[in-house]
Amino acid sequence: MADLTDLGVAAIRDGVRSGAFSAVEVADAFIVKVAKAKPLNAFLVETPDAALAAARAADTARAAGETLKPLAGVPIGMKDLFCTKGVATTAASHILEGFVPTYESTVSQNLWDAGAGMLGKLNMDQFAMGSSNETSAFGNVISPWRRPGSDAPLAPGGSSGGSSSAVAAGLCPGATGTDTGGSIRQPAAFTGISGIKPTYGRCSRWGTIAFASSLDQAGPMARDVRDCAILLEAMAGFDAKDATSLRQDVPRWEAGLSGSLAGKRVGVPKEYRVDGMPEEIEALWQAGIDWLRDAGAEIVDVSLPHTKYALPAYYIIAPAEASSNLARYDGVRYGLRELPEGAGLQDMYAATRAAGFGPEVKRRIMIGTYVLSAGFYDAYYTQAQKVRTLIARDFERAWESCDVLLTPTAPSAAFALGEKSADPIAMYLNDVFTVPSSLAGLPAMSVPGGLDKQGLPLGLQIIGKPLDEQGVLNAGLAIEQRAGFTARPQTWW
Ligand code: GLN
Repeated sequence: MADLTDLGVAAIRDGVRSGAFSAVEVADAFIVKVAKAKPLNAFLVETPDAALAAARAADTARAAGETLKPLAGVPIGMKDLFCTKGVATTAASHILEGFVPTYESTVSQNLWDAGAGMLGKLNMDQFAMGSSNETSAFGNVISPWRRPGSDAPLAPGGSSGGSSSAVAAGLCPGATGTDTGGSIRQPAAFTGISGIKPTYGRCSRWGTIAFASSLDQAGPMARDVRDCAILLEAMAGFDAKDATSLRQDVPRWEAGLSGSLAGKRVGVPKEYRVDGMPEEIEALWQAGIDWLRDAGAEIVDVSLPHTKYALPAYYIIAPAEASSNLARYDGVRYGLRELPEGAGLQDMYAATRAAGFGPEVKRRIMIGTYVLSAGFYDAYYTQAQKVRTLIARDFERAWESCDVLLTPTAPSAAFALGEKSADPIAMYLNDVFTVPSSLAGLPAMSVPGGLDKQGLPLGLQIIGKPLDEQGVLNAGLAIEQRAGFTARPQTWW
């Protein structure tokens, strides 16, 4: 039999349904692969029993002639930001070591209800803060990709780097990610896979460890656009437990997939042509424009004049919300407790937080506390909120002349570990193309477009109107059908 781990979500689902193979065979194949892939450090916890239990349920249902659930037989990886009942959940932070949730996040529950099985919890940047996975307290994830002739470990992107590495290496056919300022799209771009961040509010945040609540959105990461559509259908939906959850039916995105863009207008925002952008990214962007035109779209130039303020506004708003959200980790309620000899309550808070949070998390808490402090609030936080409104308005205006926007996903291909970690600003610049749509709450997706001259994947981003995931997926499909991206990393681990 062909290697089952070469199959994506749709192929596994269909094969289990038709009886070409059993769900247990699929789960076994991925479990073996996960166990062998330790050098990638993509999984923090492996849960083969959970994957097998879901697989057995699928096989039993099929044998009984029952209608199979939408994801029956499909094993997936779960980013460690999602609380999973009875399974350690740390957000890759020392401060949550030992925390075993007594409840399940809505998104993960939705996936289990759809029949998916869990292969394990995926490593990530600590509290989802980062672009390279170097902020994980449990060692960084390594990308399965390498530069030719070099074994320098490359960043899988962040913060959903465990997810991107695992999918790209074939350890799971799909995984969950979360995206606050680009954490689904940038790691997808770095590893040659697809990932979509839906409209803010499509996926419930309940039970997902909070980073910046007004920005955080869950979404799928998988090998292709169809697989993303299938997973997102299972993940999304109204949830009364999340006050910002949208009361909207979940469209049948997979059924609505079409790579024809006849009658659609694709906007190309001139402000995304940033100084110092490598020529090959520029060239890929042009190729993307040509592909979408070939798919029937009309290409229009658009302007998003406040783009350059998006990154500074994000790096005020996100840390501000993080500083407030992370106040709950105090040594009393979850995970780590540092109680020095003779310590009082305040000392325990301080000791726990000093020992538990990593340097990047501390940096964000300090920035966030500063911009929210009396005297500075109006100068920074209020201003950033105003900028956020202007950025959202830029997009609203753009929608008067186009249906989706096309941009590169990131200003570079994957970098080597250590290459940017000493310079937070250089790291933050990686988010320049993904942050604006996050601030505006818009659906946005990255699909692989090609390889750079070193043979590393590059991604193209499609940004859509609120609730128009279908338009985003369809433009992504049109690119996928034309880019012919079949490159896979060589197995070295
Ligand atoms: N890289 C960005 C940050 O560090 C985005 C992170 C994310 O989307 N979770 O904040």
